[in-house]
Amino acid sequence: MIDVTEQKQRVAVIGGGITGLAAAFYLQKEAKEKKLPLEIVLIESSHRLGGKIQTVRKENFVIERGPNSFIDNNNSMAKLVKDLGIEDQLIRSEAGQTYITVNEKLYPVPAGSILGIPTKLSSFLASDIVSWSGKLRATCDLWFPRSRIQEDQPLGKFIRRRFGKETVENIIEPLLLGVSAGDIEQLSLEATFPELIEMEKEYRSLMTGMKKALSEISHDDSKGIEEQRSFQTFINGLETLIEALEGQLIDTTILKSVKVESIAKTAHQVTLSLNNKSSITADAVILATPHLISQKMFAKQGLLQGLQDIPLTTVASVSMAFPIEAMNESFTGTGLTVARNSDFSITSCSWAHRKWPSFVPAGYALLEVYVGRSGDEAIVELSDSEIEKIVLQDLNRVIPLKGSPLFTVVSRWKEAMPQYKVGHAQRVELAKQELNEHFPTMKLVGSSYEGTSLPNCVDQARSAVDELLIKLFE
Ligand SMILES: Cc1cc2nc3c(=O)[nH]c(=O)nc-3n(C[C@H](O)[C@H](O)[C@H](O)COP(=O)(O)OP(=O)(O)OC[C@H]3O[C@@H](n4cnc5c(N)ncnc54)[C@H](O)[C@@H]3O)c2cc1C
Repeated sequence: MIDVTEQKQRVAVIGGGITGLAAAFYLQKEAKEKKLPLEIVLIESSHRLGGKIQTVRKENFVIERGPNSFIDNNNSMAKLVKDLGIEDQLIRSEAGQTYITVNEKLYPVPAGSILGIPTKLSSFLASDIVSWSGKLRATCDLWFPRSRIQEDQPLGKFIRRRFGKETVENIIEPLLLGVSAGDIEQLSLEATFPELIEMEKEYRSLMTGMKKALSEISHDDSKGIEEQRSFQTFINGLETLIEALEGQLIDTTILKSVKVESIAKTAHQVTLSLNNKSSITADAVILATPHLISQKMFAKQGLLQGLQDIPLTTVASVSMAFPIEAMNESFTGTGLTVARNSDFSITSCSWAHRKWPSFVPAGYALLEVYVGRSGDEAIVELSDSEIEKIVLQDLNRVIPLKGSPLFTVVSRWKEAMPQYKVGHAQRVELAKQELNEHFPTMKLVGSSYEGTSLPNCVDQARSAVDELLIKLFE
């Protein structure tokens, strides 16, 4: 049992992924700047910090097993990177053409497609990716009335009503969902793309709304449009962020390879029971573990049962290094996503050596492929060599390669991608209310709740810290 030795408020952060680390960092920063009597303990079950962020630096290649970049929609990452003083290590992806395979054929994404929604009608109409009847149906978006549905609805249903089945299947779904591997018929519109609801409310047409949003971004003088919409990472990969956070958490006690098994209330504090048979008491807790793990910590109290309704999808990333000569010179794209109507096992592929030249030594190429998505996850169970074989077969069907990989890194992500089904926001709200009633100084944060992207995770951490400090000190 660790004793509270001073009249400090102890905050325990459970989970050392990006969310937990950002929370600990901002707690420490606030404590220092405002001279708050805070003691911070971060508890991580693994031997390493970073959670899903895992960069492999191998033979001068930078390989991401999990997330590989981020779009800083809410500026939270820019702030964190600045606070950490690692802005000089940020890099932006090189611009390039993305392709989609539709019914096994390769098509370039029409210029001006934002999240798959056409903003340049001329290039959409000139593209062969959708038939003429499909294009005609998609232009109905320009005059169709607003949806009358007030409550949450499936993302697929909402956009199909505006653009028709073909455009949704062939362009919007592959680009909107990317590697998130979800099922558009089940995903919550409100929890995944609330901006589309607002756009429809304001402009009726999503094409018009998206165009307007783009022009507003380009009129924001503080940043160029490319800067705001581009993918970013660090010159040595995303783990740079984790290393910087760990290096700066000097006033935080970090416990690695220690698992929180259960949480209970004791007098005015909270007791965390650990797998090493000891326990820690805390005045407040930031719970930044995946939702099913968090829910199990309250098994005795039977709390947070509703979180079991947030499903998880399984995927695998497959990074393959080649000599540059193995690449097909006639294909100059940087990315490929696969529409569900294509009989492929791969769901996406990035030409990482083109997007991130610093990730690859001169004379080599790096392909980052994903397999597995909601309803189609069995491939992840195969052996590494079987997965590699299937990936190569799929790629060779569309963009023939002229050689075999020098090495391949397969990373399985079993039940790792939370899917925000219809009703997600309400489910999360109820869970948070329930927790607040029993543990008023505990916050539930992370990719299971209010956005899965890295900037969303950082944003949740920042907000939780602000709210908790108000509760503790005001
Ligand atoms: C394959 C893949 C690709 C992705 N690609 C992108 C991308 O390109 N861009 C993007 O923005 N997002 C991407 N994401 C999403 C993003 O990576 C995640 O949402 C984010 O990393 C989640 O961070 P987290 O801290 O909330 O959770 P995690 O990273 O899961 O961290 C939770 C931590 O809690 C620890 N833990 C678990 N149980 C316990 C316990 N009992 N006690 C103590 N500690 C415990 C775990 O070991 C882990 O370190 C991707 C996700 C995956 C899986």
